[in-house]
Amino acid sequence: MQTILNYIDGELREPNAGEWLDSIEPATATPYARVPDSDNSDVAAAVDAAKRAFPSWSRTPAAERSRILLDIAARIDDQREALARAESIDNGKPISLARTVDVPRAAANFRFFATAILHTESESHRTDDVAINYTLRQPRGVAGLISPWNLPLYLFTWKVAPALATGNTAVAKPSEVTPMTAYLLSEICRDAGLPPGVLNVVHGLGPKVGEAMTLHPDVPTLSFTGGTATGARIGQNAAPLFKKLSLELGGKNPNLVFADADLDDAIETSIRSSFANQGQICLCGSRILVERPIYAEFVRRLVEGANALRIGDPLDDDTGFGALVSAPQLDKVKQYVDIAREEGATIECGGDAPTSLPDRVKSGYFFRPTVISGLGPTSRVNQEEIFGPVVTVAPFDREDEAIDIANSTAYGLSSTVWTQNLSRAHRVADRLAAGTVWVNTWMLRDLRVPFGGTRQSGVGREGGEEALRFFTEPKNVCIQYPLSDS
Ligand code: NAD
Repeated sequence: MQTILNYIDGELREPNAGEWLDSIEPATATPYARVPDSDNSDVAAAVDAAKRAFPSWSRTPAAERSRILLDIAARIDDQREALARAESIDNGKPISLARTVDVPRAAANFRFFATAILHTESESHRTDDVAINYTLRQPRGVAGLISPWNLPLYLFTWKVAPALATGNTAVAKPSEVTPMTAYLLSEICRDAGLPPGVLNVVHGLGPKVGEAMTLHPDVPTLSFTGGTATGARIGQNAAPLFKKLSLELGGKNPNLVFADADLDDAIETSIRSSFANQGQICLCGSRILVERPIYAEFVRRLVEGANALRIGDPLDDDTGFGALVSAPQLDKVKQYVDIAREEGATIECGGDAPTSLPDRVKSGYFFRPTVISGLGPTSRVNQEEIFGPVVTVAPFDREDEAIDIANSTAYGLSSTVWTQNLSRAHRVADRLAAGTVWVNTWMLRDLRVPFGGTRQSGVGREGGEEALRFFTEPKNVCIQYPLSDS
């Protein structure tokens, strides 16, 4: 059994109260590590350390901050295999996915923000011949960073990198469900010579550690990625304390396939956008709307593709589809499939656990990729986020109808549109309620673009310039300079 430790003031530490939680490997349903069940006092120590580190780190030249963050990126690359293995054990995802997506993207997050701070511009505004204004963008102090379990290292570093690059110090909390890669990152940061207190990682439960962070008066900035209900709770805590908030929340993303789409491409990518990471990516398309002339063929081939996914031990290089992250997550998925059945839906494939699994993982949290048809847009299955390997398919006849159905949930994170008609692509993209619209692709990410959701999918944007701005406070300096002597 491994032991995961907090990272506070440059040291790896046990939790103050000596309490621990089990970390479960989802593929085997057995504990593989113990993780700190930290409390208020650990958060207080982390915030104190971050406060002490702030004056020096915020004045460290950008080039030096950049050098250290690039060193962290290089170490993530060097430890790719170990990190990918840890993430696969922690999360249940296929190791090939962790190796090709999560870990390289975590290094890319550090590299992107480490170099972005070397190229920022600052604004100045001249007020006729009366004054010149210039804007200072200053780090805000201690940032509180809270991340979910689905892309543990990737989403954790997506927050840590811009916070630190812009000169903030941070207290960060990974999900208690998948703590291992954040722990390994702590070791990497320490070995890279990140000064003590610049990054502090406190492990533990949301209602204890997360809540203490959101309520702490000396954490003026909060960046959260997770569920919508948790985001609402954090908003309630943060509002009276006037904290600056970024909330990246849930989604119920539509995937619109028009009859003129490149069908091979649309089907191949839709299999990925439905079932990558067992459907546990906030950007997965969970409602597939297909124009009627191609509906039957699309569903047939989608089902064939889903059935062909190789379910198995996440640590096996050939596995394409792993375990769900936890027992509660598996129960939630089953409940929604039961609701679909009660509503008279057709289960086109999946709907239950796989029957043959390798011995090592036969007790794990597995559920087959599931395609459901026959449900109307107002069904709970089409309205509520399931966050698992379950997609619905439905035909549509008109573009307007497809857009209306696409926009009919409370969410607005991302959408995908498949068409060869350029006018339609622009028209539909313009009308979809979403922070990101992909056309003829999915999850293609450019770290410079604004990333986030509308409606109940979140508040604020991350990525590129948006992140640099979020983690800094603008200050206008106005200097009068009468150009004449009068
Ligand atoms: P969650 O909301 O349960 O937990 C997220 C984090 O918040 C965890 O670290 C958790 O410990 C912490 N937390 C829980 N209660 C808290 C509280 N009261 N105060 C402070 N922190 C608290 O979400 P999850 O189940 O870990 O992740 C799945 C959700 O995340 C899905 O809804 C998914 O759509 C969403 N998500 C969104 C994005 C995005 O970019 N919009 C990306 C990934 C995941």
